[in-house]
Amino acid sequence: MPAPGPSCSPLQTDVLIVGAGPAGLFQVFELGLLGLHAHVIDPLPFAGGQCIELYPDKNIYDIPALPACTGEELTERLLTQIRPFEPVFHFNQLVQSIQAKETERGFVVETQSGLRFEAQAVVLANGVGAFLPRALNAPEQADFLGKELFHGDLDAALTQFHHKHPKSTSKVLKVWIVGGEEEALRNALQGFEAHTKLDITLIHRREHLEVDPKLREAFEAALAKSPSTQVSAQVSAQVSGQAGSQETAHLTQQPSSLSFKHGQVVRLMGHAPDNSPLTSLQWVDAEGNMHEGEVDLVLVNLGLSPQLGPIAQWGAAMHKKQITVNTEDFSTAVPGLFAIGDIVTYPGKKKLILSGFHEAALASFGVAKWVFQKDRIPFEYTSASSLLQERLGVQKK
Ligand code: FAD
Repeated sequence: MPAPGPSCSPLQTDVLIVGAGPAGLFQVFELGLLGLHAHVIDPLPFAGGQCIELYPDKNIYDIPALPACTGEELTERLLTQIRPFEPVFHFNQLVQSIQAKETERGFVVETQSGLRFEAQAVVLANGVGAFLPRALNAPEQADFLGKELFHGDLDAALTQFHHKHPKSTSKVLKVWIVGGEEEALRNALQGFEAHTKLDITLIHRREHLEVDPKLREAFEAALAKSPSTQVSAQVSAQVSGQAGSQETAHLTQQPSSLSFKHGQVVRLMGHAPDNSPLTSLQWVDAEGNMHEGEVDLVLVNLGLSPQLGPIAQWGAAMHKKQITVNTEDFSTAVPGLFAIGDIVTYPGKKKLILSGFHEAALASFGVAKWVFQKDRIPFEYTSASSLLQERLGVQKK
């Protein structure tokens, strides 16, 4: 079920699951069997956690009764299995704060972009952390982030850039793309082929581009047919001087240019005195020589890395950056806050998908006791219980 848009009043749910990896997805199922409805939050734009982000096409051989399935297949199967319980997913949302309510049971949870939830219980299934874009190793980047420095997709970055700099649509934009993997090359090619008026430089710390040979060939072919960057620089200078109609027409047809540099961006610089907006950057080549280049927009495509974020502030006891749990019901030190999957530690813990499934089953009973305020939750088999089959929406056999 798609998530409703942001609203001022908090979204209400029985249980909020932080993380849509395999453990979080199976938690939806186990809670659903006990009559509890869940919302699931993840900063990625899709479900599956590490299975999708790190190894979607690799076979997994140790899921019980599934001799082999890829990370993607496993995720699809889990999404099919939990469909009867109609979970509400909130993708592209990073949980920032979790606060126990002071006067009643339950939690107030807030994401980085301001989406608020009220949940009776929370299950942390945030694995090895949120997969967030790797940052550029230049200390000044925070000054330019979201204005002239972006991560991810070039078209989205250009849209945001033009929104912040409305006058920029009439000039040749100097775009530096940092990275040497697929995303960086695709953005460079897309910018070169689909746009006019972009002077694109791809910069990568290695000479070798770490991509599929076909993509590398396409990139090299684009480099070979790129017009000289000097020509585009001249046009840029002419036009920024005075935007006569002839020059504007010439500019509209200005093809994009593409070049490749082997080196690392080390410094970003803006107009003095307040560093705004970005005007130039410094980069170091393989021999250690420093260079300076003009720039309007920097796109960082250095891949994603897992970052645990502020979980230490959520109240659960931790050991070596993992949450300690009671293995009877996967409760944490905070009543009503549970944790499962790769984020938890206990004697003998193995970071396996099947461990996360087992933990989700036991946690669901702990969550149900907490939410229904009961000492005991009836235990039933799906093969025999008409109640569970009704919840699953299947015919009794
Ligand atoms: P994850 O899969 O890490 O999912 C956690 C989710 O939480 C992520 O989507 C993340 O974006 C989200 N998240 C993090 N922080 C936040 C936050 N603040 N707010 C909201 N959401 C957040 N296991 C096996 O059993 N068999 C195998 O063959 C196998 N092969 C593997 C191969 C590789 C290369 C790797 C890296 C792992 C492999 N594993 C395997 C391990 C397995 O993938 C993990 O044990 C499993 O993914 C853990 O599931 P999880 O749901 O706990 O965490």
